[in-house]
Order: sequence, then structure tokens, then C-alpha cells
Amino acid sequence: MITQDDIDSVATNIAGTDMDVYQEQANSFAIYDKSFKVVYPSLGLASEAGEVADKVKKWIRDGHMDKLEIAKELGDCLWYVAVTAEDLGYTLSDVALLNLEKLSKRKKSGKIKGSGDNR
Ligand SMILES: [Mg+2]
Repeated sequence: MITQDDIDSVATNIAGTDMDVYQEQANSFAIYDKSFKVVYPSLGLASEAGEVADKVKKWIRDGHMDKLEIAKELGDCLWYVAVTAEDLGYTLSDVALLNLEKLSKRKKSGKIKGSGDNR
């Protein structure tokens, strides 16, 4: 079970580290019209998630998984996550910590399974 101490430890280790360096570098490639900030990268994230699903679908169809190509699509997703977070005023480490906190709360309340954004 993830404890608050675990989260605090990760928070200390995540903040300002490679995740945020990556985000800064990722944003140097963001060339879209900023009047579409949040919207443009969110749509891109949905599109790239579809590309991941397509590669996995082809694994079923063709009988072999191209892990490298899936990893590349995951990288595309990561880029869009980083840029969307930036547009919202968050660092990637902020997003990672928010996710760990949400998962920890769900686990503590026995709601790690199931559905719904705010279990
Ligand atoms: Mg792609």
C-alpha cells in the first residue's frame, strides 16, 4: 500500500528533476498557435493514444508486438501530456504527484478498482 510517507518521499525526489527538464525541452518544440493552448495538445494526446491502441491492435492482428514502435507512440503521448500540463500551469512532477495522491486515496478507501474520476 502506498503511504503518505511514500508520496512525500516521491515528491521530494520528483520535483525539479528529469521530468521537469523533459517538460522544458518538450515545450521548446511546441509551435502551435497559443490561442489554442490546452485544446491543441489535448487533441494531440487523444490522437497519439489512438496510435498506441492501433499498434496494440496490430499485435493482435499480426501476431507480433513491435515494442519499439509502441514506445515511440508513448513518447508522443508524453510530449502532449507535458505540453498540456505546461498550458495549464503545471509541471510534469506536479501531474505525477497529483496522480500518486489520487491513487493512494483510492487504495486507502478500497476503490482502486472500478470506474469514476473521483472515487
Ligand atoms: Mg505518433
